Order: sequence, then C-alpha cells, then structure tokens
Amino acid sequence: MEYEKLLKNVYLNISKKESSCDRFEIKKPIIIYEGKKTIITNFFIIADCMRRNPEHLAKFLYKNLASFGEIAGDRLILTRKIPKEIVSQKIFLYAEQFVKCKNCGKPDTEIVEDKKENYLKCLACGTKYILTKI
Ligand SMILES: [Zn+2]
Repeated sequence: MEYEKLLKNVYLNISKKESSCDRFEIKKPIIIYEGKKTIITNFFIIADCMRRNPEHLAKFLYKNLASFGEIAGDRLILTRKIPKEIVSQKIFLYAEQFVKCKNCGKPDTEIVEDKKENYLKCLACGTKYILTKI
C-alpha cells in the first residue's frame, strides 16, 4: 500500500529528528526576533540534546526570563524581546541545575518524578537528590 509506505516514511523522519544528538550537548540557541517576540528556532533540539522535556525547559525559561511564551512545533516563542546572551545564560543555568549531577558533574542524569518531588538521578555515580521546583 502506497499510503502506508508514505506514513511509514513520515514516521521515520520524525523519529530521526527526535534523536538529533548522540551525546549530551548544550546547543547555542538560534534566535530570531519578530516585533517584540523572541523566537528560539532550535528549541526542540536544545531540549533534546540535554535529554530533557521541552515543557520543563520552557517553564524554567518563562520564569527566569520573566516572560510568557508558548511552544510552537520546534520553536519556543517568548512574548518579550530578550537579548540572545541572556537566553544562552539561562539555558546554561538550566543545564547546571537540572541536568548536571551535583556530585560528579556528569550530564548522564534523568529526572524522576514523584507525587511530591522531582528528583535528579545520576546514572554515572548513582546519586539521587531532590530538585527545586520551577
Ligand atoms: Zn553523578
């Protein structure tokens, strides 16, 4: 069936996009400005390369950049005009707080969600600690 073949191809392309990084990396944000809006065009890739949920990173940025916003496909649209350096700094800060292990400094971690708390679990050294809420 041609249609099924087509669907399969679409699915494969999506899967490929979802694993854009082989290893941990803090990507530099690619930013464009539209009027007063700040748009991070590679937002999905940034979150993906840090192995984090885009929603979680977005929430952190809204709070730390004092902006509202929304995720639109691969992009994050912030409702305020924010200098590129500031956005980069906050993404770096996010990695420090929510990706890198406080004990060994490695980024091989995952967020474990509990009913009450979020934990950072390090897959390299086994440390687990409570994360501050965003
Ligand atoms: Zn560790």
